[in-house]
Amino acid sequence: MSEKTIKLEIATPERVVLTEAIAQITVPTRDGEITILPGHIPLVASLRAGVIHIKKENDEPEIISTSGGFIEVLMDKIVILADTAEMAAEIDLARAEEAHRRAEEMKTNLRHQDDVDFAEVNAAIERELARTHAVKRWRNIKSISGNREDKSE
Ligand code: ATP
Repeated sequence: MSEKTIKLEIATPERVVLTEAIAQITVPTRDGEITILPGHIPLVASLRAGVIHIKKENDEPEIISTSGGFIEVLMDKIVILADTAEMAAEIDLARAEEAHRRAEEMKTNLRHQDDVDFAEVNAAIERELARTHAVKRWRNIKSISGNREDKSE
């Protein structure tokens, strides 16, 4: 692995989502988005629900949605332990939109904002929004790269 890349591992309690050498990663932390390049100082941060942007070793993009977790940046690798994470290409958009609709409906039926269910329903909304944003971002990237290929032919 060259010094222009760093190994990335993304795992959930269910599975390993990605292990790959990457050139750059941008993650949504509780204090805002951060971009990490090889050689970054070690850090640990808490992730919120959102979209992870990755630039792979060959400059290819990768988009991943997460519902939150932790990122640990070490000298030789970056580890993300996520509650849930999906590569954009494997997200079922209709399922995410339907789950989002159900969560919004539950929210309107909750009477008190201090209801314990309120935090759960808000987390579900954030999780499904992250999934739909990831799919839309991914489609956008693919259509831009498709247009570039068409013009170069
Ligand atoms: P649903 O109500 O549709 O099951 P959920 O938000 O309750 O959604 P989670 O508990 O967050 O689902 O996730 C359960 C598993 O299903 C995880 O492995 C997650 O990665 C996967 N998953 C959830 N939603 C989607 C989706 N829209 N597309 C692909 N995988 C999904």
